[in-house]
Amino acid sequence: MSLKKIQQKMETLKFLHTLPLIAQLFEEASKEKASGLEFFEKVLTLEADAREESRVATSLKLSGLPKGMRLDNFDFLFQPSVHKDRIDSMATCEFIRRHENLLFFGPPGVGKTHLAAALGVKAIELGYSVSYYTVEELLLQMKRRPDVPLAKQRGRAYVKNALVIVDELGYQSLERSDTHLFFQFISARYMRGSTIITSNRSVREWVTIFAADEMATTAILDRLFHRAHIFNVDGKSYRLKDFDHLFEGVQRENV
Ligand code: ADP
Ligand code: MG
Repeated sequence: MSLKKIQQKMETLKFLHTLPLIAQLFEEASKEKASGLEFFEKVLTLEADAREESRVATSLKLSGLPKGMRLDNFDFLFQPSVHKDRIDSMATCEFIRRHENLLFFGPPGVGKTHLAAALGVKAIELGYSVSYYTVEELLLQMKRRPDVPLAKQRGRAYVKNALVIVDELGYQSLERSDTHLFFQFISARYMRGSTIITSNRSVREWVTIFAADEMATTAILDRLFHRAHIFNVDGKSYRLKDFDHLFEGVQRENV
């Protein structure tokens, strides 16, 4: 078989990463006197690794996850209220397989978004479908098809993805209709997929987020907490760590 024919076959089989390299790989293999088996293994490995890399890159882009938030750049020494072992055990993504939820509570700047997003990255690397929204973005997405009941919106990422991260619950109070939409979202995901939620408000305050609607709040909490891992993230804001000297002697509970 000529090189040209091999290249055509590679194109048909979508061996697109190794296709432009194949002539060079042949040359190297013959120089190194590699066996047929070794050569074939090299081509397959290169192709598989490159495909995996581009799958992860594409999924990361589609997920909407904020960039640069990974577990390997999270400083656990700065954040002693979160135990690395516990996060590492979440990073296996067993919780996604079990359709369990993760809830991160804490004041602004302590790393809630970072941890949630970093677990989202892990999940993508392990092959799970992931999307990230702020509460505001999620509600906007849902309102694009208000006429279609959520149960019939199976094509939508916030319903069907294995993991959905909803960030910043509590920065704004929701109106009654948005509270209802949020309940629909939680309900659609209940026992079907994992949800990670971050909030700057404690559970006791959630009723004030949800239009003072006690029934809706209870229904949301009931479903979310049915199978949940809770993380109370505390301490100082990482954002303000370089300004520590400005706060000497100042009460800084709210930063
Ligand atoms: P929160 O969501 O709790 O308000 P973020 O996760 O957005 O806080 O953190 C604020 C900024 O500080 C982000 O840029 C984040 O990457 C960074 N950050 C927070 N905590 C840590 C940490 N322990 N190690 C490294 N970076 C951190
Ligand atoms: Mg945040």
